[in-house]
Amino acid sequence: MSFISFHDITKRFPGVLALDGVSFEVARGGCHALIGENGAGKSTLGKILAGVYTADDGEIQLAGQPIHPANPLIARQLGIAMVHQELAFCPNLTVAENLCLGDLPAHAGWLDRSRMRQQARAMLDEIEADIDVDRPIGELSTGQEQLVQIAAALGTQAQVIVMDEPTSSLSAHESEHLFKLLAHLKERGITVIYVSHRLEEIFQLCDTVTVLRDGRQVATERVADTNRDRIIHQMIGREVVSHTPKNMSRPPGDEVLRVENLSSPGKFNNVSFSLRAGEVLGFAGLVGAGRSEVAQAIFGLDDAATGKVFVHGKELSLGDVNAALAAGIGLLPEDRKRLGLVLKMNCRENTSLAALDRLTRSGFVRRSEEQSLVQRHTERLQVRTPSFEAPIDGLSGGNQQKIALAKWLARECDILIVDEPTRGVDVGAKAEIHRLLDELACQGLAVLLISSELPEVMNLSRRILVMREGELVGELERADFSQANLMRLMAGVEAGAVG
Ligand code: ADP
Ligand code: MG
Repeated sequence: MSFISFHDITKRFPGVLALDGVSFEVARGGCHALIGENGAGKSTLGKILAGVYTADDGEIQLAGQPIHPANPLIARQLGIAMVHQELAFCPNLTVAENLCLGDLPAHAGWLDRSRMRQQARAMLDEIEADIDVDRPIGELSTGQEQLVQIAAALGTQAQVIVMDEPTSSLSAHESEHLFKLLAHLKERGITVIYVSHRLEEIFQLCDTVTVLRDGRQVATERVADTNRDRIIHQMIGREVVSHTPKNMSRPPGDEVLRVENLSSPGKFNNVSFSLRAGEVLGFAGLVGAGRSEVAQAIFGLDDAATGKVFVHGKELSLGDVNAALAAGIGLLPEDRKRLGLVLKMNCRENTSLAALDRLTRSGFVRRSEEQSLVQRHTERLQVRTPSFEAPIDGLSGGNQQKIALAKWLARECDILIVDEPTRGVDVGAKAEIHRLLDELACQGLAVLLISSELPEVMNLSRRILVMREGELVGELERADFSQANLMRLMAGVEAGAVG
């Protein structure tokens, strides 16, 4: 008997078809896995059910009735709750205040604090979560915050809970608690939609699984009828268009970056590798493997990092962004909105930002030089903008990303670290960014490419390093690249388990 059914759900974002006619059913009390690579559309589907986004097309039914969760409150009233990856509460309010927000116990018009605390404690006891209700949410670990979100969901009598990659930031111990809790939810007849890209969890927890790839539903099957091998193929099975980048036909130059035993407590351990001029070095791994953290440490953003980083044989002082910049390192971060661009500035200002010190003479920016610099680099990248004075936040993701790249080109760095450079950009801009990275390598730039998209990292890189849970677990030469080889290292699957 199907409890939730999705019919032909379609969702577009500017430049991306995030979901393309997805249809499947979930039984009451079942645990249904949604699995797929980054960007496959998993969170989008969960958010549509939970009222965070509205589908452009299609229908959802709950217990045979069409529903329209137009916002999270309506979804809650329908008995649907979502445990988000990102912070979902007011960080400065206490656990008790957050848990009772919708239903504050009052007595003759006064907030009854002791009853509120009691109520919150009872909600947490329900899931055996030992959390101090008087602490502000902002002080909790992600794992604790997730538990509070689950308690809140149960407290509002949710019948359906969507969990979006709940274990991606949990410790092993916290994950175990979560798994026990899921079993408990199942006993209570609660239906769970479990978003993950960790195969082991799916086999441990779920009854049925839907695999998404690029917004399309590849399969919906009973977990008992499928296996790892099959799911991996379904997740990544698109054809790898392998054209060989031009830089591959040139011998790489001298070593420009050497990283020795770089570690940061709780993030990554003893990472060592080297990178040569004109080389694109891929960095593969699942989300949370520590790749971005390594990039940030190299760029001087991690005060706790230990180990050694050499640029052109000269040791770099760690935890110092200015030293990294002066040594010629550029970083195009994963979250370009937060770190890569200043959205309120226009294209010209963003492009010249990183090079301002070079354009400035006795405190004044030399505007004509700025203009020509910006023009040169945005032309090279074929940025489509109505004017250089247009604000960045009106541009498409692909054009924003090109401006973010132009920023580093303007600085003329010789080591460029790019973190998920094509995440959220449309197909055309993606091809241009790929071409550009190849061109930069041909010009002698050393590129460290972090990407969760296997075809991307396999196409562009000369070598690929694989990280898993904060450790470098393997290095592959181009001749040995295959999705199966990479997945095996990334997921820690036994050799032979993946065909
Ligand atoms: P997953 O959770 O499987 O990693 P998402 O559902 O987050 O994938 O994303 C699917 C696609 O939709 C991606 O291309 C992503 O960049 C895009 N996308 C998701 N949310 C938004 C948004 N709010 N605005 C624009 N694009 C988005
Ligand atoms: Mg997601």
